[in-house]
Amino acid sequence: MRAARQLGFEGGRGASRRLLVVGMARSGVAAARLALAQGWQVRCTDRRPDAERIPGTDATYGEHRLDDFLCADCIVVSPGVPAAMSELVAALAAGVRVVGELAFAAGHLTCPILAVSGTNGKSTTTHLLAQLCERAGWRTFEGGNIGRPLSEAVGIELDVAVVEVSSYQMELPGAFKPRAAVVLNLTPDHLERHGTLENYGAHKCRVFACMGPDDVAIVPAGDARLRRLADEHPGRRLLLGGSPGVEWGGDRLVLRGVHDPGEVALEGFTLPGRHNVENLAAAVLLAVSAGLWRADLKVAGLQGLPHRMEPVHTSAAGVVFLNDSKATNVQSALAAFAGLEGPFVALVGGKGKAGAHYDALAGPLRQARSVLCFGEEGPAIHAALRRNEVAAELLPTLVAALPRAAALARPGDTVLLSPACASFDEFRDFEHRGEVFAELARGLG
Ligand code: ADP
Repeated sequence: MRAARQLGFEGGRGASRRLLVVGMARSGVAAARLALAQGWQVRCTDRRPDAERIPGTDATYGEHRLDDFLCADCIVVSPGVPAAMSELVAALAAGVRVVGELAFAAGHLTCPILAVSGTNGKSTTTHLLAQLCERAGWRTFEGGNIGRPLSEAVGIELDVAVVEVSSYQMELPGAFKPRAAVVLNLTPDHLERHGTLENYGAHKCRVFACMGPDDVAIVPAGDARLRRLADEHPGRRLLLGGSPGVEWGGDRLVLRGVHDPGEVALEGFTLPGRHNVENLAAAVLLAVSAGLWRADLKVAGLQGLPHRMEPVHTSAAGVVFLNDSKATNVQSALAAFAGLEGPFVALVGGKGKAGAHYDALAGPLRQARSVLCFGEEGPAIHAALRRNEVAAELLPTLVAALPRAAALARPGDTVLLSPACASFDEFRDFEHRGEVFAELARGLG
């Protein structure tokens, strides 16, 4: 409650202070419940008439009413709602306090928060970090942009909250103040919402904005833009792939400039791909920045997440099928192909994203035994590869391409689906695409 008061989020017990929650998906629902528990008089609003109703709150569903926004003492906004919405802009201009769900929840937490941001690798890094903290005996909450909204962490006895942060959640960052945070990387994605890469990066780096001098801000050593953007904020700078910070090579990580510097052995860490070593390095640096000791880090046997470089089948001929359906942009697929060891057959394609360029895929795909392009974007990828003198075959769909990939693979090869595209031309979402891939692969024997 002390933190809540400091941040001005004390509820309305006896004072009937009015709070409006905008957007009633999972985060909004959790925020409304938290606000009720804190004694606010809560109104929920959503353009969908059938959005979830929360007992004890008032509701404006099917429309937004400007009055609701202007009469509120505080407005909590779900990440799906654009900060540029006219009612929010009017409320801000009228001096109403407007915050994102993440900042609202964080204002009520007393445990340290560790935050993971970036274009690619957030969920995996968040999950690795949460496992490291749990295995060290810390009572750990894992959530944010993936899984449970942070508002659900309030009221639980916790030693740490590990939070995945999307750039949407940083549009209204409020006083979100993590103990340590990383922006893993920055590549063109979601530019339809953020306009330019500079803008998108600036949004990501807002995760550092409220830090104190002892809080830790981590950025990749090799990304000049992120280093510059992060330098505009307070916080102690540590580097991913540099010093002070964490570096990796061979079978170990090396930590410098932290309370327990030295090596961390990678023995027993089995997540495929070099980018997963990078994700682990970020997780370890965050954990140690929060006070964990190297001796308590248990790296062996850490689990990945479904649809991220997930081994789903090994055929009778010894071909391993890896499902990386979550690789919905070029950069994530690049990391997947570039980080793979041994011969592989690549599956790329699906629904293209605004401004996507595929020439960069030629580098790692030149090493592939075969490349199969499929889906709406198949012809564009095929053309880009041919332009760069990389041989590839073109098939209409993933369902058609997978048996061909299996036929081209030799014993010991990997067949990797890392599509570099969204899935909506053939599937409901990336999970559906990954499930169909796994099922078809198993069916091949
Ligand atoms: P996010 O939550 O940021 O979307 P995920 O952990 O779900 O990230 O991974 C999404 C995809 O990004 C994976 O399928 C993988 O191919 C790729 N990826 C994972 N980690 C990294 C990384 N550190 N750098 C680049 N690409 C990555």
